[in-house]
Amino acid sequence: MTVNLKRVVNKTLYHDPMNNFELREADSETRFDPLTGQLVRIFPFRKIGFPRFDWTPYVEESRKRFCPFCPDSLEAATPRYPDDFIPGGRLKVGEAVLVPNLHPYEKHTAVVVMTPRHYVPMREITVKLMLDSFNAGLEFLKIAAEKDPGGTGYCSINWNYMPYAGGSLIHPHLQVISGPEPSSYDGQMITAANEYKENNGANFWDDLVKIEREGERYIGKTGAADWLATFAPRALVDVTGVLPGGVSPEDLSQSALENVLEGFKKVVDYYDSVNVPAFNAVLYFAPRAEEGFRIHARIVGRYTIFPVVGSDVSHLQVLHNDPWTLHMPESLAGDLKTRF
Ligand SMILES: [Zn+2]
Repeated sequence: MTVNLKRVVNKTLYHDPMNNFELREADSETRFDPLTGQLVRIFPFRKIGFPRFDWTPYVEESRKRFCPFCPDSLEAATPRYPDDFIPGGRLKVGEAVLVPNLHPYEKHTAVVVMTPRHYVPMREITVKLMLDSFNAGLEFLKIAAEKDPGGTGYCSINWNYMPYAGGSLIHPHLQVISGPEPSSYDGQMITAANEYKENNGANFWDDLVKIEREGERYIGKTGAADWLATFAPRALVDVTGVLPGGVSPEDLSQSALENVLEGFKKVVDYYDSVNVPAFNAVLYFAPRAEEGFRIHARIVGRYTIFPVVGSDVSHLQVLHNDPWTLHMPESLAGDLKTRF
């Protein structure tokens, strides 16, 4: 097994103005993603503690403006697929409705309007709400793969919950992507995972779960899915869910999908309890031929550092491609374990 969990503790000396200018040694960590080798930075705070963010004024304001996803406007204001692609133009699963993205950013980009409700607070997000929506996304990925085999295959289902996470509308919706080339990070993972399999005769995620299962970053299981506090986080409170098999959307069983969403629900409840007001979540897939890959899930918290306005994205991510976080994955796992 050659999963390399490389971390470097950096010590910085300064005279501390908060403590009478006594000499202080401050720690930070540089970690390297065990799959891609990407550098990430951690400035560790022991506890996540944000003031409660009140979305009410933004929700109320957004209700006064036009929302294309609300039941009164969805039919007239969202695009439709040609009938020979999706008969009727839109996919419906339970209360979820999948429509084309009006502003596509890949060959196939769909949006799943998850519910008729304009605003769903974190505590009211249910597995059922997610299940219908992710099923609509999966159905779309399968149809796109069948109708356009050359223009699909590298795909994912994504969720930007609330504006801090990049959601352009309050109304809950998923972003579904499929194209002939992977996204940048997906491509790095796929290449590295195939190399890992070739060099080690094993799947990277199987080995990762094996090595983490006994350790301080292991959170627990929901059915078939193992949950880990991500060793090298891409953002705050970064959690990875790993399934025991499968590469492409066709490989994902209903029970495995439910297991993943049960895990998301537990993590979202935790975010709510520590006042993390927004999140990004993803289910990553690859074409079956990318044999080293494994379907897995990831969910990260989004927030603003300053109570009024602000961003959790800085020069480090934008100009240097260095993800960073304020929270140690080991503390996160400790906090989350009791919920699994
Ligand atoms: Zn709405």
